[in-house]
Amino acid sequence: MAKTTINHSCGHSQVVELYGSLADRERKIKWLEREGLCSACYKAAKDQERIEESAKAAEANKADYLPALEGTPKQIAWAEQIRAKVMPQIDGMVGKGLQKISEQGTPEGSEWQIEAITKWHDQIRARNQAAWWIERRDCSAQELLTRHLKAHYSDQLAARNMRAEVA
Ligand SMILES: [Zn+2]
Repeated sequence: MAKTTINHSCGHSQVVELYGSLADRERKIKWLEREGLCSACYKAAKDQERIEESAKAAEANKADYLPALEGTPKQIAWAEQIRAKVMPQIDGMVGKGLQKISEQGTPEGSEWQIEAITKWHDQIRARNQAAWWIERRDCSAQELLTRHLKAHYSDQLAARNMRAEVA
């Protein structure tokens, strides 16, 4: 390894530690000087990227008539992205699911499902706590619905022995 001062493309110089053969290190130095950013500029660029992505997500959510989020600016920025990703999945799943139930479901079995899913859909679209979305950042649309049905409709699920899956 060798410590080398790099004059990055952003105009800042920084001492970096390089590993590998001399040829490898020279290649790396060339790249860092031509295209690389110093740590501070790299972080600033990444932050800017995140701000732009979040702004785009917020715009999409607004266009989708979702409510404004509550939380710290950082939480809101994160939650907007989570919501923008999962909400189209939720809308699609609900649409398909309701259609499937009304086509195949027995009248008495399908009624509560249609009601449960419709109600859940309204509720989740109205969720405006950024923290709520962040807690569920790894959940798919299906997981969110399944969790809800298990929590609130366990009796009906057991009675009908129906699968919570609708997608
Ligand atoms: Zn820099």
